[in-house]
Amino acid sequence: MSAEKIKAYIKSRKSDMIELQKLLTAIPALAPDIGGKGEWQKAEALIAWLDENLISVAKDKGYNATISVIEVPDQRAERGSRPSVICSIDNIDKDNNSSSFWIMTHLDVVPPGEYSLWETDPFSAVVKDGKIYGRGTEDNQQSLVSSIFAALAILELDLELTCSLKLLFVADEEFGNEYGIIALLEQHGELFKEGDVFLVPDGGLPDSSMIEVAEKSLMWLKFTTRGVQCHASRPDLGKNAFVAGSELVVRLASLGEIFSTTNELFTPPFSTFVPSKKMANVPNINTVPGEDVFYVDCRILPEVDLDEVYSKIESICKEVEKKYGVEINIETVHRITSLPTPSDGKLVKALEEAIGEVYGIRAKPMGIGGGTVAAPLRNKGFEAVVWSTVGEMAHQPNEYCLIDNMLRDAEVMALLVSRCHR
Ligand SMILES: [Zn+2]
Repeated sequence: MSAEKIKAYIKSRKSDMIELQKLLTAIPALAPDIGGKGEWQKAEALIAWLDENLISVAKDKGYNATISVIEVPDQRAERGSRPSVICSIDNIDKDNNSSSFWIMTHLDVVPPGEYSLWETDPFSAVVKDGKIYGRGTEDNQQSLVSSIFAALAILELDLELTCSLKLLFVADEEFGNEYGIIALLEQHGELFKEGDVFLVPDGGLPDSSMIEVAEKSLMWLKFTTRGVQCHASRPDLGKNAFVAGSELVVRLASLGEIFSTTNELFTPPFSTFVPSKKMANVPNINTVPGEDVFYVDCRILPEVDLDEVYSKIESICKEVEKKYGVEINIETVHRITSLPTPSDGKLVKALEEAIGEVYGIRAKPMGIGGGTVAAPLRNKGFEAVVWSTVGEMAHQPNEYCLIDNMLRDAEVMALLVSRCHR
């Protein structure tokens, strides 16, 4: 019953959703990392829109509704900070200790890239053939707009809201989250309560079938092997770092035989250890290289202990050091562990059900390769699922959002939130 009403309501707001997309596309929030000013202008336009179109409705319906901005200092950005916006809708009758349902999307966009590859102005949204073209229209404005209209559907249709609904619009997703969700979790922990759950609609498949619940831990390591450089005609006087490094790289590439646990949530269902970047050594052929540098990208199943992997790597290095008389230094470039969200928990089940009703398919909980924005949330003990229905146009020229996806994802979100009983 409510599914039909929600569908009709969302459909009736289609042109408003498109208008909001146009408004947001015209204000690119680009990171200072690539010479942009940050998120302030876009945040302010969004706040003004929410004030006029959402907060007023929520108050009319008897809810407590507020907008707050959390600023994270960043001297490179306009006004010296990066703003994340929280729009809260609370049931006044509820005690304010009840947990929250968060829908987290991001304000920032990536640059357009090569302008000549765009058929339209990337920062002026164009509607054509059921699509909205423009930078950011899919990543992440599609879901941002869906989340707002899902909230409006719940309010206007008088659906029961038993939890506190929080729409969170974060800064700095595209460049590592340090000035966005990570700072919020680390420096503003009071915003979040035990039992809060998160939907992060920033990733998925075109048929809506993927609910990402887990990711592999990520470890990027740099290996520097130091031997003794000498003339290639007298290798007996040196220690060839390239040869020692080559044995090391081959042994590291087969770590998967040692850490061979499998988990069918993931594709591939095992941990991966991939030697990737290799630095140049000597420029000429007649010198025995005294130094060898390469990198390994490790993506490790959540059930495998990263420390155990690391100490195995150390012991392999020791063996190679001994065999070739070289010195090997390991440097951790990047390391993120990630706790999984239970794939049979209430949140995942409710989302599967809502997707089934709207899209008519059976979505599946899955794990992915690692390093997504959900990891810091999961690592703080929150349940977090990543799901949305996308045409996979993120970061590409002629990025577009399929209007149907934006509408139907809003329906799924409204169903999901209206059924959360907390
Ligand atoms: Zn995104």
